[in-house]
Amino acid sequence: MTNEKKSHLTLFILGAIVTAVALAFVSPELAMGFEVGGEIFLRLLTMMVVPLVMASVMSGIIGLGDIRKLGRPGGIAVAYYLTTTVMAVIVGLIMVNLIQPGIGAVDQATLNALAAEGEGVVAQQEGATLDAILRNLLLMLFTDNLISSAAETNLLPLIVFSVIFAGMLTTMGRRVAAISEMIVQVNDALLAFILLLMKVAPLGIFCLVTARFGEAQAEGNLLEVLRQTGAYFSTVLAGLAIHALVTLPCILWIFTRRNPLRFMYQMSQALLTAFSTASSTAALPVTMDCAVRKAGVSRRSSEFVLPLGATINMDGTALYEAGAAIFIAQAIGFELGMTQQLVVAVTATLAAIGAAGIPEAGLVTMIIVLNAVGLPVEYVGLILSVDWLLDRFRTTVNAFGDAVGSAVVEKSFVA
Ligand code: ASP
Repeated sequence: MTNEKKSHLTLFILGAIVTAVALAFVSPELAMGFEVGGEIFLRLLTMMVVPLVMASVMSGIIGLGDIRKLGRPGGIAVAYYLTTTVMAVIVGLIMVNLIQPGIGAVDQATLNALAAEGEGVVAQQEGATLDAILRNLLLMLFTDNLISSAAETNLLPLIVFSVIFAGMLTTMGRRVAAISEMIVQVNDALLAFILLLMKVAPLGIFCLVTARFGEAQAEGNLLEVLRQTGAYFSTVLAGLAIHALVTLPCILWIFTRRNPLRFMYQMSQALLTAFSTASSTAALPVTMDCAVRKAGVSRRSSEFVLPLGATINMDGTALYEAGAAIFIAQAIGFELGMTQQLVVAVTATLAAIGAAGIPEAGLVTMIIVLNAVGLPVEYVGLILSVDWLLDRFRTTVNAFGDAVGSAVVEKSFVA
């Protein structure tokens, strides 16, 4: 593909998103009719995830030749994930404490009504204590049934298995040469498949976006909801913008000397896909494609850093979880001291790591944060109405964080 064609695709996708939103406003019924198209595109992307993650992680390790060579990059990747997540949380806390969007945001009657709506979400995560969370995070790495993990797109145990299995292959020499070669070839073929998928991306993205915005518009409350939750929405959005446009670009420039704007542009199709699908997992195939083919990140790094990142590195989600928890506290007049804000920071980090890369997963794991500081969890109802929209922005930041990570960690493979 020529450079010119590549840039056209990004423009097409952008155009598709703008047209999709416009159509949703003008004719929500018509817009909702595109739902099937969106669902098909989403399924095609998601269908790729499990084979791609397994093939790419394995082929990455086979390429290294020795699993021990993963030690240093692995350590750096984990350090990167943690540092950037914590930085995102800090930005979220600063923003929400400075702007205080929750103070006087809602009256008591509305508060009660919204709390009732929140009950539904709460049921999904009751009894989440810090102990239970840590235990769950550890258990999430392992499975007793590879097939069921694959069926549920539970990537972490699949990654653990792939690392061990491929590591073993590298020690078995010529006896397993055919398997190793096949894995590398399967990986190449899957990447070619993604290239094909990208040809219909503008159409798929158009359908996804117009159907969802159309649904919101048909409920007749998109603008109303935005007005009501405007202060909260814009505070989190501003935090996300700072993280994506200041923090991550600085990290990228300091560690790789890459031009952040250029890098963002090279990753643009992945970012737009993340926005449209609200799922870093569904966007993963595109993220990997852009990182390798457009941004020129080494395959060694992206094959390993991106799948793991899509599952555990969620800067946008962490920022939002911290911001939303404090917003809720402000709205219901619940004082949170320094220590409690620290608890929010720690649990928001863990909750983001534990959140799956699927739409609105962060909303559910946020119950953990609320529980940890004793906030009444049903008030999650306060932020319910805009969550589907905010989710798209935080997912975009999640995907960008992973992409920057693959470029940063790349250096440690060379050294
Ligand atoms: N939708 C987000 C993701 O897939 C997770 C979340 O914050 O809800 O990355």
